[in-house]
Amino acid sequence: MDTNDSLFERARQSIPGGVNSPVRAFGSVGGAPRFMKKAQGPYMWDEDGKRYIDYIGSWGPMILGHNNPEVIRAVHEAVDMGLTFGCATQREILIAEEIKKLIPSIEEVRLVSSGTEAGMSAIRLARGYTGRNKIIKFEGCYHGHSDSLLVKAGSGMLTFGNPSSAGVPAGVTEHTLVLEYNNPEQLKEVFEQYGDDIACVIVEAVAGNMNMVPGKPEFIHAMRELCTQYGALLIVDEVMTGFRVALQGAQSLYGVTPDITMFGKVIGGGMPVAAFGGRRDVMEKIAPCGPVYQAGTLSGNPVAVACGLKTLQLIQEPGFYERLSQQTKKLVEGLTAAAKEAGVAFCAQSVGGMFGLYFLDKCPEGFNDVMKSDTKRFNVFFHSMLDQGVYFAPSVFEAGFVSIAHTDEVIEETIKAAKVAFAKVA
Ligand code: PLP
Repeated sequence: MDTNDSLFERARQSIPGGVNSPVRAFGSVGGAPRFMKKAQGPYMWDEDGKRYIDYIGSWGPMILGHNNPEVIRAVHEAVDMGLTFGCATQREILIAEEIKKLIPSIEEVRLVSSGTEAGMSAIRLARGYTGRNKIIKFEGCYHGHSDSLLVKAGSGMLTFGNPSSAGVPAGVTEHTLVLEYNNPEQLKEVFEQYGDDIACVIVEAVAGNMNMVPGKPEFIHAMRELCTQYGALLIVDEVMTGFRVALQGAQSLYGVTPDITMFGKVIGGGMPVAAFGGRRDVMEKIAPCGPVYQAGTLSGNPVAVACGLKTLQLIQEPGFYERLSQQTKKLVEGLTAAAKEAGVAFCAQSVGGMFGLYFLDKCPEGFNDVMKSDTKRFNVFFHSMLDQGVYFAPSVFEAGFVSIAHTDEVIEETIKAAKVAFAKVA
């Protein structure tokens, strides 16, 4: 019978690194990744038949837990009607209207199939709209793997055009400025120097790709003001935070109105749907209305949209976000208390249904703080939890996710396991 170990060995013969997305390979924590077979509610089961409490939720989409019966029914009904038409469908209007209803900054929205496409297209749109080339991103923020956004910052230094992946020509990233997260003074200085050439600022308002680091309100508000002052567009990447940190996203928590917002993950409910949307005058620059080209064979796929639409409807049930936030807080507080009891330097925090765990004395404020995380201790903790059937993200640089299916019992079981794991770490 195949086991996780034998499957990993076999996978590596045919798939680079045995996986179709690098973090799945357990590269930083070591050991064979788990090959999952099925999932239900807060649980997943691997090919060995072992059950795990899941705090990854497919990296964010599974806010309702796995296999919600109403979502599955909506998907089955859509499948029965045909898999894809490559034509306009009524359901695309319904999901666009639902997004507009929930997010006041959205006047028009275009569906795509991944967050990467949403980011790539939002940047092209911002450049097409403003007629400018330079873009500002922040170190530690991830906006998908399109070339111009794959730029690494040199340890807190402003850097121009150093691609962080092979295969990205320096010419493609020479217009990408990478600044420090949560540093409004630096942002202001850069606008003073290059303001007339800056097409947009792109940001995760609550950063979820350097573990989890919430933006400081003064940082987020400074970028809104500077963008307006210099005629640049503000792109808020809500691929992870959208419908996750609050029903109306991170922008509602900060009271900030982006010009363009990117969505993904939860809006697909577990299927490939992402989107970018915003001000009508900006969005009308997109083909076929305007000169900025963007397209997709499977964009607005009817089965994926049925899944996303039902998910968006279910998260609007009264009390949903209060409950989700409460459960996430319960987890974070329980883990913090368990670490304290074991004498382990540890900090955890949450925003809505998203959380960060750090083997640090205090919670980080930016990329440099996160880089100080004790990865050795994290790896011991991670493997002990995994052995006990609790699946956290296999990297110290990833955020975690709680679903509405994570009951008190599930969280208590997690904390019980954490007491054992922290004792090993200490
Ligand atoms: N933006 C953010 C904030 C993300 O977290 C991700 C993926 O994790 C992306 C964009 C890219 O989305 P996708 O993996 O669907 O291409």
